[in-house]
Amino acid sequence: MKRFDENCLFCKIIKGDIPAKKMYEDDDMLIFCDIDPKAPKHYLCVPKSHFKLLADMTEYESELLRKCLQKIPTLKDELGLNDGYRLVINQGDDAGQTVFHLHIHILSGVKMGWTPA
Ligand code: AMP
Ligand code: ZN
Repeated sequence: MKRFDENCLFCKIIKGDIPAKKMYEDDDMLIFCDIDPKAPKHYLCVPKSHFKLLADMTEYESELLRKCLQKIPTLKDELGLNDGYRLVINQGDDAGQTVFHLHIHILSGVKMGWTPA
């Protein structure tokens, strides 16, 4: 069962009420460009159900997340991820989560370091 929050930015983007540069869409997910990119290529993969944390995820939503994780590698050419990419799911304050609709950051286009702060 899909959940929706009328006050959520990403629910509004999914609904089409707020514009985004969409890269891929199906019934389960939307992938669009991050408005404030932290790497030369920075996309957000958003499952089409509103939940904040992995801890809140229903069975149905875990299926959506699985589909997201399986879809991303198939889009390597379209998204320009062939030299490697990083997936990030921020969870809560210390991780810097600012939008409370679970999303996967897809970062690519640069050789990345490996320290969070
Ligand atoms: P997080 O900090 O993990 O919650 O990630 C939220 C991300 O959403 C940030 O990287 C923001 O730059 C991005 N963001 C915020 N507003 C928009 C928007 N209107 N369109 C696209 N990305 C956005
Ligand atoms: Zn939402």
